[in-house]
Amino acid sequence: MGKLLFWLALVALAFLAMKLVAISQRKREAAQREDAATGAQATTTRTGEGARRAGELAGEMMVQCEHCGVFLPASDAFVDGGHSYCDRAHRDAHRTRQPRR
Ligand SMILES: [Zn+2]
Repeated sequence: MGKLLFWLALVALAFLAMKLVAISQRKREAAQREDAATGAQATTTRTGEGARRAGELAGEMMVQCEHCGVFLPASDAFVDGGHSYCDRAHRDAHRTRQPRR
């Protein structure tokens, strides 16, 4: 009897998990559909700061500062001679540390 209860509980849990996944998937699809609908109506507002931020969150290319090794979005980096830096000071510091050949 204990074994039967265990299996019943297991099946119920699996069923519940599947249901939760289905619900979250439906919510995500609905949100995407809503996003597409509002995006078509208000393209002017979505090309501004919000859209730029969304692009960054969606995975902008990250580069590493040659001087301190910190990772930052490529659009925020100072690029010099194929090297990326987190700011001007690090670019200059790296330059003086490694003179050009
Ligand atoms: Zn740096």
